[in-house]
Amino acid sequence: MPLSFWLITAFVFGVCIGSFLNVVIYRLPKEQSLLNPSSSYCPNCGHSLGVLDLVPLFSYLALGRKCRYCKNPISSRYFSVELLTGILFVVLTWYTNANGIDCLTLLLFASVLIAIYFIDLATFTIPLSLTLLATLIPYVRDAYGIGTHEPGYELMFGWMPRSIFGGIVGAAIFGAVRVLGWVWKRVEAMGLGDPILARGMGAMLAISVPLGAYPLRHFAVWVLACCLTGAIVGPLMILVRRRAALAQTEAVLGSESIGQEETAEYEEEPSSFLKEIYWVGWVIFYGDLWEYLKFTFFDRHTTQEEAPPPEADTFVPAPSAIPFGPFMVLGFFTTLFVGEWATAAYLVYSFGTK
Ligand SMILES: [Zn+2]
Repeated sequence: MPLSFWLITAFVFGVCIGSFLNVVIYRLPKEQSLLNPSSSYCPNCGHSLGVLDLVPLFSYLALGRKCRYCKNPISSRYFSVELLTGILFVVLTWYTNANGIDCLTLLLFASVLIAIYFIDLATFTIPLSLTLLATLIPYVRDAYGIGTHEPGYELMFGWMPRSIFGGIVGAAIFGAVRVLGWVWKRVEAMGLGDPILARGMGAMLAISVPLGAYPLRHFAVWVLACCLTGAIVGPLMILVRRRAALAQTEAVLGSESIGQEETAEYEEEPSSFLKEIYWVGWVIFYGDLWEYLKFTFFDRHTTQEEAPPPEADTFVPAPSAIPFGPFMVLGFFTTLFVGEWATAAYLVYSFGTK
């Protein structure tokens, strides 16, 4: 099959997966089942959607961006997610030259990252099940490479899988950012979801280096890319949200309340340096995995009765808060696509050798 065939297939496949990701992005933060109800429904009127409403990309445009039943506008996020997934699938298929297992691994990983990107943006949390998936995908790929003695998947020091090594270092780097943030400002600089996500990304990047290269070859570019996108887009994001929050307060209370900028505050649990260090260790030693297993198999019944359903729709973050997950996702793809080029260019520039 020519590559062009696979690129077109990837796009069609991508928009369909994007359609499913929309369900994940909408339901997962509300802890609703992904399979029940099995049919999608309009978030406004609750009417279940038919085949005509569910053709990816096409339905949104053909129905005039409105629900066919209640005529309420449909969020453009649905269209963006489908289109973005389609385009990303094409790029990744081209990038891996449609090479079976590498291509599938990256498509799967990218799907998880897209869901994380939009969920973190909307709710400031990253569901554990997604960060765990992001960790497991590179591990499984690595295990396959090790098991089949694929070149480039040799164990480090004779016993350490490269993905696990990359995961530990990734979690440690972004965990350190979290600890430093606490030392500097005494607030939670980033959530725990971000070092967990870094663990998966670090694992993925460690097995994506060119044949025979050191697993951490792209890590400098990666950290730089995450921080730069954060430093450039972050302040813009805060500015936009401050304005929106101000406009909202003014609309509700009149112009007296301009002084009160911070309308919502996190309830911070008091932390300590040791506690912060503990949490980084918790991430590196898969505390999230144990927690997830415990919750799924032992605590499910008790926890579900006690915990009230989270209200994702009414969530109002502090105007100065920004989610870091989206920047990590952008940083990851930047590194995947230009990391080798940037690293090689840097090495040639400083040492005259690659
Ligand atoms: Zn509707």
